[in-house]
Amino acid sequence: AQIKEVEFVKSSSRPKDCPKDDRPEFAILGRSNVGKSSLINALVRKKEVALTSKKPGKTQLINHFLVNKSWYIVDLPGYGFAKAPESARMDWSAFTKGYFLNRATLVAVLLLIDASVPPQKIDLDCANWLGRNNIPMTFVFTKCDKMKGGKGKRPDENIKNFQVMMGQNYGKHPPWIMTSSVTGLGRDELLLHMSQLRNY
Ligand code: GDP
Repeated sequence: AQIKEVEFVKSSSRPKDCPKDDRPEFAILGRSNVGKSSLINALVRKKEVALTSKKPGKTQLINHFLVNKSWYIVDLPGYGFAKAPESARMDWSAFTKGYFLNRATLVAVLLLIDASVPPQKIDLDCANWLGRNNIPMTFVFTKCDKMKGGKGKRPDENIKNFQVMMGQNYGKHPPWIMTSSVTGLGRDELLLHMSQLRNY
């Protein structure tokens, strides 16, 4: 399940410009500042692999990284940047939704959720939207090393609350993994999980 080689392939500004081969892919999605770049870099054990622009309002791109010449990690624009103008958020929706609904090779979305803060409405909205559209997802909780999070809740309490709030809409929870890019928690579990979903 280990990552031996990662190669940046391309940035696409439209879903239809994405690579056209049949290799399976995992899309990584989450709020700005959730720890996405840190997680991708921890997974591949390299610095500065993720190329996503962190600034709102910049061109939104779908970035494909080919792993071990056999599957893709796809870095999607972050959502919910507090300072993003409404128009930028709308663009994100149409653009990213188009990708999710039309990408046949998408194995699963890794939805990153910051475990150091209480459940955020925008994350729940995103998870619910993916669920309603039958898009397979795995919850990847980030920053689980933080002993105390926002409003004094610990990561495990925040995670439990998130699951409960999701459970009000869904009988079956998506798989979930606790991670930390600081301690390396969950790294191997996540790699194994992805290899099981790919069937090799
Ligand atoms: P991105 O905007 O989602 O790509 O987020 P970054 O990877 O740039 O991380 C945002 C901030 O959270 C940075 O200050 C990171 O150092 C911090 N961060 C990211 N992952 C972790 C983690 O696992 N634990 C802790 N304690 N901080 C983290």
